[in-house]
Amino acid sequence: MPTLPWARGKAERKTETKAKSEETSGRPSMAKPKMALYWAASCGGCEIAVVRLYEKILDVVDAFEIVLWPCIMDFKYKDVEALPEKSILVTLFNGAIRNSEQEHMARMLREKSQVLVAFGACAHLGGIPGLGNVTNRREVFENSYRETPSTVNEEGTYPQLSFQVPEGELTLPEFYDTVRTLNQVVPVDYYMPGCPPTKEQTEKVVQLLIQVVKEGAELPPPGSVIGASEKTVCDDCPRTREDKSIKVIYRPYQIIPDPEKCLLDQGILCAGPATRGGCEAPCPQVNMPCIGCYGPAPGAVDQGAKLLSAVTSNIDSRDPEEIERILSGIPDSIAAFYMFGLPVSLLRRRRLEREAATAEAAAQPMKAEAAR
Ligand code: SF4
Ligand code: SF4
Ligand code: SF4
Repeated sequence: MPTLPWARGKAERKTETKAKSEETSGRPSMAKPKMALYWAASCGGCEIAVVRLYEKILDVVDAFEIVLWPCIMDFKYKDVEALPEKSILVTLFNGAIRNSEQEHMARMLREKSQVLVAFGACAHLGGIPGLGNVTNRREVFENSYRETPSTVNEEGTYPQLSFQVPEGELTLPEFYDTVRTLNQVVPVDYYMPGCPPTKEQTEKVVQLLIQVVKEGAELPPPGSVIGASEKTVCDDCPRTREDKSIKVIYRPYQIIPDPEKCLLDQGILCAGPATRGGCEAPCPQVNMPCIGCYGPAPGAVDQGAKLLSAVTSNIDSRDPEEIERILSGIPDSIAAFYMFGLPVSLLRRRRLEREAATAEAAAQPMKAEAAR
């Protein structure tokens, strides 16, 4: 990580500040490092996670000058665009990349920021919007603007990128075919998982940022997952696990589980074994299974594959037909295994690779023609 001007020793910064202020106005400098918060394809829950800092938000305002936070205040994009490169110390970016405006903002904030944090499951892994990758733009539009029972659209009008009205041209961002994570668009420095990140982890990360600014604390190595642990959710869960006990797969509303025993052992699909810890396992503690929002467990290449492995190895049968019957109790395999990470899953990559190979093969004759 390059040395951050705000992250040096307090005494050093004080001397520099004093010298600068004498050089200019003679008054103490009020300049604070800048922070931006942005939401792309997001539900707003990650914004609530920051607002839930309650009075501690005052510490953030004390340490940083907030230059962009569309959910909370009316900042203008053009003011941020006018800032010099790397003039924002840190940007907390939540939400996936679904349209051209979000991609533009991701690129712009990357250029302006020294530290870019993918904040929350959608920016980190694609999140719930990433489930849209089981389909494509045409089907999403067809469903949203024609097929839903509440839609009346006799002319079959779809959103247009550009539309002329007497007052001039109206434009909309382009809706992409594929949902991407933040790091599939721009390089990311840190990943903060969770849907949303818990209040406690958000507090810890914000506190670290304040310490970086005020006391010159060290940032973790670039590329780190922050605000989480190096264990799994099961490690934080108080329930007792046994082995080989799944006979039937239930949805949570279908049974009242034993409060002491592991939910997975009781046939409720719980993503704990495949999911990174750090949230303190709030879901299983209230009889709800973990659905994997903290992303792949440390070392897991593919969260869904790891969970599938945990489920199948826990099935209490060696009879293929019975195993088939038990697994047929999973109502929606993609949501069960890839609720938050479809855009980063091996499934998705393989499909994209295949698509890229097909496109490359299709382009070859044209390239050959152009070379003649
Ligand atoms: S990670 Fe969850 S809370 Fe945050 S924007 Fe995405 S869906 Fe909302
Ligand atoms: S599988 Fe779920 S319920 Fe079981 S120990 Fe892990 S987190 Fe707890
Ligand atoms: S238990 Fe699972 S779903 Fe619940 S907050 Fe933790 S990681 Fe997310």
